[in-house]
Amino acid sequence: MKKILSFDIDQTLNVAKTPIPDEIADLLISCLRADFAICPISGQKFDQFLIQIVNRLVERGATPVDLTNLHLFVAQGTQYYKYETPGKKLGPVELSVTKPTDKYDEKNWKQVYSYPLTDDQVKKIATALETAAKELGFWEEDKLQKGDTIIENRLSQVTFSALGQNAGTKEKYAWDPDCKKREKIVKRAKELAPEFDYEIGGTTSINAITPGMNKVFGMTHLLEELGAKKEDVLYFGDMTQPGGNDYPVKEMGIDTITVRSHEDTAFALRGILGVTNNL
Ligand SMILES: [Mg+2]
Repeated sequence: MKKILSFDIDQTLNVAKTPIPDEIADLLISCLRADFAICPISGQKFDQFLIQIVNRLVERGATPVDLTNLHLFVAQGTQYYKYETPGKKLGPVELSVTKPTDKYDEKNWKQVYSYPLTDDQVKKIATALETAAKELGFWEEDKLQKGDTIIENRLSQVTFSALGQNAGTKEKYAWDPDCKKREKIVKRAKELAPEFDYEIGGTTSINAITPGMNKVFGMTHLLEELGAKKEDVLYFGDMTQPGGNDYPVKEMGIDTITVRSHEDTAFALRGILGVTNNL
């Protein structure tokens, strides 16, 4: 019996870069209440986890008690946040005194760990990605919205988003549907700065990390933090093919469900909750 349900975000729980739909929010709340630990792992930053997942769960009725089963593995799991509720010492065991009537407060998210890149590493990666994209004619600076950037330092990784963070979903889907442009950029960037790993994710993104700082790093820490074994976890992702950013999780031996979209994920979650309810 799985105790932990772990998810990629973009195209697994949502339409890339958008908040999760009602159906997914409601299913995740049901999973939290069925006492599954829910662990999203994605290359996104913490504020995107709040916008895309947490705020939606709260809007759909998740309580602080529910949120204590939610564990956020930000920037591919190189940062971990959990929702802390007021507790007080009562003898040897710390008991939570959270009541269902307590109000959700964003300030109660606590960073448990963080492993940032150094300034020098960030500079090297940014230069390699920009040079590669420019050489190949894929540097689309003219298409950026005001104030947006192609390369972003997400502390534990550097992310290339071909059309910027704020481009329209349609444009993003159309830019590189077969991943061919990004495969070329990755190949060239790897020649320019071989000491880093480059992974294709989302619709227009490449995540650059130091070797080993991928979802395996996140998943390994997840197991440690939650005191769990590999077989306790079921992982959902849309990029489980070799080279995809969900592949390392599958390769390390975690049971994985490959989905094409959040509709597939919803279908699988309904099955899991159905089975659980019948036990
Ligand atoms: Mg994805």
